[in-house]
Amino acid sequence: MEKWRQSLKTAVTDIGAAVRKFELPEDDVKKAAEMFRFQVSPHYWSLIREKGDPLYLQCMPDGRELEDDGDLLDDPLGEEPDTPVPNVVHRYPDHCLFTVSDCCATYCRFCTRKRKFGQCGHIDPANLEPGFDYIARTGSIQDVLVSGGDPLLLDDENLEYILARLHAIKHVRFVRIGTRTPCMLPERITVKLTRMLKKYHPLYINVHFNHPRELAPAAVAALGRLADAGIPLGSQTVLLRGVNDDPAVMRELMCSLLAARVRPYYIFQCDLARGNSHFRTPLAAGVKIIEAMRGRTSGMAIPHFAVDLPGGGGKITLVPQYECGCGGEYRKFRNFRGQIYDYHDVK
Ligand SMILES: *Cc1c(COP(=O)(O)O)cnc(C)c1O
Repeated sequence: MEKWRQSLKTAVTDIGAAVRKFELPEDDVKKAAEMFRFQVSPHYWSLIREKGDPLYLQCMPDGRELEDDGDLLDDPLGEEPDTPVPNVVHRYPDHCLFTVSDCCATYCRFCTRKRKFGQCGHIDPANLEPGFDYIARTGSIQDVLVSGGDPLLLDDENLEYILARLHAIKHVRFVRIGTRTPCMLPERITVKLTRMLKKYHPLYINVHFNHPRELAPAAVAALGRLADAGIPLGSQTVLLRGVNDDPAVMRELMCSLLAARVRPYYIFQCDLARGNSHFRTPLAAGVKIIEAMRGRTSGMAIPHFAVDLPGGGGKITLVPQYECGCGGEYRKFRNFRGQIYDYHDVK
């Protein structure tokens, strides 16, 4: 058995022990853990410093998951109607999402797909045939986002089978993989894996980090191995109350990602999945974070702030308002220092 599989076998799954360790209110926490699977990888567990810290909050069940503020949904992104065959979500004309695994190394408490992926092992790689078939007969799909769950929790052989099948479809110009393993299970990024991935260029990987402390030395090394395999890396971050809803924390995270060879791609507004109410921040918090970065740090560190609209509306991006008036042919803008400049526009 590969080392990373062995290490997953020692993941923390005993909620009783966690309740005792952190002296938690037993009933609520156990109920939350029953609603959505509790599992924390050994690596991530070792990074938690204390009860309530930003890493603890992302993976420990919490009684507040039982609350409902009235906005929360089982299928927050309205994906069901855009699912032409099992495991494919086809919402945008030229690319689709392909969920090939329902397992994760650590189950994030704020997961969008809580409704689906509380259990591990319901997706069998042998049952993806309708997905391959749909992608192969839909000529408009030029880009497939392989996601989950976490696709890198598949064995190399199963993952390679999926990449090879997609690679063989002529109209698929490139493939993206979304994974949180560099953060949660960095030992998964073996040299053997990177050698396999290299065969399927053009391949992009988007990783998921939410706090600067997640960029531990083992995670940075794993990202380096992926980058050395020539895979362009992007990052996705979920904006979470009490975890990273602070411009200074986000700036540090984005700059640390760049230093680890990852180009920040999205900051997401937390989806309205049932159990997420205590993680929600106002939309203005995300805009403020972008505004705090523009002009003050490397533009390469600044991702898009995106909201995936509930009910299947898809992603939109929100940007700070820099325009502050116009007079005739002149438009007025405020720069990052708050100074006003005129721009004479052409007709
Ligand atoms: C997020 C998402 C994508 C990818 O969107 P990009 O903006 O291209 O990164 C594709 N399909 C679905 C259904 C999605 O939710």
